[in-house]
Amino acid sequence: MKNFSIATLASHTSLQILKGAKDEGFRTLAFCINKNEQFYRNFQFIDKLVTLGNYRELIGLEKKLANSFVIMIPHGSFVAYLGKDFNRQTKFKYFGNKKVLEIEGNRLLQKKMLDSAGLKLPLTFLSPNNVDRPVIVKTFGARGGSGYFLAKDKAVLKRQLKEKQLEPGKYLIQEYIIGIPVYIQYFYSALSRKLEITGVDRRYESDVDGLGRLPAEFQLDLKPEPDYTVIGNFPIVLRESLLPQIYEMGQQIVNSSKIMAAPKGLFGPFCLETIITRDSTIYTIEISCRIVAGTNLYIKGSPYMDLLYDIPMSVGRRIAREIKQAIKQRKLAVILT
Ligand code: AMP
Ligand code: AMP
Repeated sequence: MKNFSIATLASHTSLQILKGAKDEGFRTLAFCINKNEQFYRNFQFIDKLVTLGNYRELIGLEKKLANSFVIMIPHGSFVAYLGKDFNRQTKFKYFGNKKVLEIEGNRLLQKKMLDSAGLKLPLTFLSPNNVDRPVIVKTFGARGGSGYFLAKDKAVLKRQLKEKQLEPGKYLIQEYIIGIPVYIQYFYSALSRKLEITGVDRRYESDVDGLGRLPAEFQLDLKPEPDYTVIGNFPIVLRESLLPQIYEMGQQIVNSSKIMAAPKGLFGPFCLETIITRDSTIYTIEISCRIVAGTNLYIKGSPYMDLLYDIPMSVGRRIAREIKQAIKQRKLAVILT
């Protein structure tokens, strides 16, 4: 154990990942952008801080550091800033399956994976001509929901596409689901082959969550476009009667991922992003195939983790525990790629 370091980029969920690793007895290593160094120096559980001008400088460090004793924990910043080529080619050992990170980064592959798991998805319209209900248009490359727009019917959609001069093939037209967004966090252990629900959250998004604060008169005058840029997260507990169904959904995606991301499939932390309607229909809109930032709510454990563990268990700590277990059982090859 003493030889191993748990490493990650200093952002997104790094604090709980590194704290959890330290709590489980690992050495910890953070790769930090220069301007954030002061902040990350505050935390005693970070043993070593390597500063970088930008994240891509990690490539230059691979030779020196990418030995089997440094275990990298990928999170949202790996998908957003390092990109699929880096994640596929890097010599760093990742906890989790590099193949599923690639699926997460590609809308079409994501849809295929969710479809093949038998999950219920909002309808996708291949052409604006087929649209017969309110839709949300997701431009490719849009980050975190910035640049999405809504259209209440076919005529409005066509007008907006023309105004924005969007070319076909550069966006996705999806049925708009009226309901509430619910993000379900899971952890699947490749060692024990057990699935855990680790927490549930919703996002606090600017400006959609701010629009309701404007009086109707302002809304009509200003005609604000909804924007879904994440600023933070709120905790949620679900009706207990929904839990068996969402557990089953997690199981289905784990099973079907064994085909698309063969042979290991999806394991470790992941999240299904859903919209739940008034009749409890659960639509899945996206999947994150690694730890999500909503787990930052539960560094001292979530209501669901409390049911499974006798100590405060963050997802970061759960990851470290899995790695510790694998080292003890000499099964590191099962959980690293
Ligand atoms: P950041 O390093 O904060 O820029 O985040 C990296 C990626 O994770 C971006 O694509 C963000 O949109 C996403 N992200 C960051 N924080 C959160 C959060 N609290 N909830 C959901 N997504 C987030
Ligand atoms: P996404 O980038 O897919 O995570 O979506 C960002 C936000 O857009 C979500 O948090 C939802 O609030 C909203 N959203 C995405 N897809 C839909 C949909 N089909 N129906 C309603 N709202 C959606």
